[in-house]
Amino acid sequence: MALTENAIKVLEKRYLKKDLKGKVVETPNGMFKRVAKHIAKADKLYNKNADVKKIEKEFYDMMENLEFLPNSPTLMNAGRELGQLSACFVLPVEDSMEGIFDAIKNAALIHKSGGGTGFSFSRLRPKGSTVKSTGGVASGPISFMRVFNSATEAVKQGGTRRGANMGILRVDHPDIMEFIECKKDITEITNFNISVGLTEKFMEAVEKGEDYDLVNPHTKEVTGKLNAREVFQRIIEMAWNNGEPGIIFLDRLNKFNPTPGLGEIESTNPCGEQPLLPYESCNLGSINLTKMLKKVGDKYEIDYEKLEKTVYKAVHFLDNVIDVNKYPLKKIEEMTKSTRKIGLGIMGFADMLLYLGIPYNSEEAVELADKLMKFINEKSKEKSMELAEERGVFPAYDDSIYKDKEIKIRNATTTTIAPTGTISIIGGTSSGIEPLFAVTYVRNVMDNDKLIEVHPLFEKIAKERGFYSKELMEKIAEEGSVSHIDEVPEDIKKIFVTAHDISPIWHIKMQAAFQNHVDNAVSKTVNFKHEATKEDVEEVYMLAYKLGCKGVTIYRDGSRDNQVLSTGKTN
Ligand code: ADP
Repeated sequence: MALTENAIKVLEKRYLKKDLKGKVVETPNGMFKRVAKHIAKADKLYNKNADVKKIEKEFYDMMENLEFLPNSPTLMNAGRELGQLSACFVLPVEDSMEGIFDAIKNAALIHKSGGGTGFSFSRLRPKGSTVKSTGGVASGPISFMRVFNSATEAVKQGGTRRGANMGILRVDHPDIMEFIECKKDITEITNFNISVGLTEKFMEAVEKGEDYDLVNPHTKEVTGKLNAREVFQRIIEMAWNNGEPGIIFLDRLNKFNPTPGLGEIESTNPCGEQPLLPYESCNLGSINLTKMLKKVGDKYEIDYEKLEKTVYKAVHFLDNVIDVNKYPLKKIEEMTKSTRKIGLGIMGFADMLLYLGIPYNSEEAVELADKLMKFINEKSKEKSMELAEERGVFPAYDDSIYKDKEIKIRNATTTTIAPTGTISIIGGTSSGIEPLFAVTYVRNVMDNDKLIEVHPLFEKIAKERGFYSKELMEKIAEEGSVSHIDEVPEDIKKIFVTAHDISPIWHIKMQAAFQNHVDNAVSKTVNFKHEATKEDVEEVYMLAYKLGCKGVTIYRDGSRDNQVLSTGKTN
């Protein structure tokens, strides 16, 4: 197995079994065996004669070859006492003291097990409204978010992974302006990503320059009006300022809600890629695209046959996870088993483009994204339909959109593009569908201790083509990008584009191409240069809306302190 040094470090720190003294007592192979064995067991539930050993070997091989990796909690917890395997949860927050503190307690249980939680705070009555039982006044959603934040702070996950949350507020909630500005100071509410839930009505009012109504969710009364463009501008200003809040298009999430009969989607998981119903959870897994290539002559091509087989195995794996998972709450187990959502995605897209010699910021790359994800999505559905024949449709099928279409399917959703923040390090490839951050970069190890890391494919090409030198690599790390480095040949410059060489418009086009063929949503950060204007941000938001994205997260370089990875220029 070709694990990189970084991968081994990450595995030893957080994934491999340790003894009571903290000494690592499991090898990476041992971890993959433990996971494969546990997940393969589920086949016995459906077929007493299933060849579990064979399935276990299939699962093991695909992980050991780094072709497919499940989300972190599955790697960490499968076959161990904790046994909680999902990354994504959404919990309801009811408008009562009991409801609020139930949600905090449930979130703590989920964080302890390695999962992340999303909440909508939209049902909470606004600040200053009366509380009948005490005659006092309500403190409003933002003050309660701070309580959730403190609880998260206190529950560290196994000493390293601190819980992550998503907080969402509808744009027509009376406290929306306070929400939009609540992370103006980025040292506040640090365990939350926040997103404003934009409605179709609101977006229309933005386009027409009209006012829109604010509604008290408790009394359903209209409490006031705001000008939609002014609110939209404020969101843009704040996002430009430090990346928070993001936006999600709520009505669009519900337009694609596969089980409308079970209720409305009001939130996503922490990184935004997984819309879920209250009490629903989902497990994710990602295919490493750099392992789905074949060499034809001296060129690389996508090996669609291998990809098809890998998608089939991955869907089988993820459906099994649902049955052998230990859920933190009975309600979550019931809800999750009724829809059986899974989220198969990809990692290493940018690295794959490098092998294929296609620049990320090109129509060719966007067309390839469209074709590739269409293929993965279709194949995942094929497998899910095959599983439905063997194992039955998901129990909430009668409440779903599939019933009308007479499509017998095992899983209410099959595809999601996750950030793959950690599993892409284990897989030794670029994360999710993001472009390269840098060709060579400086990793801040400690204050004055800097390490230069060079992209392995760039290093290989530079050596083959004879322009490699240590000095040049340092110079590129200083610059961040190769676009202005004369020593690098033009054809290489075109392909080795980094997040900041790529205009935000291409980031969104790429996100939209993937979203077209993904049931759930796409994790993507649109990177802006430090000099970008608020108008640039607005342009991207409007384009995302028009192209059918489900949400947008942006980040302007240098707008937060202490970036862990930084190119020389912004450091
Ligand atoms: P990984 O690479 O570790 O599998 P991702 O970066 O793909 O994870 O994130 C997927 C999802 O996992 C996130 O959207 C979130 O729901 C959950 N998650 C990620 N990091 C954390 C964390 N520190 N605490 C809790 N949940 C997390």
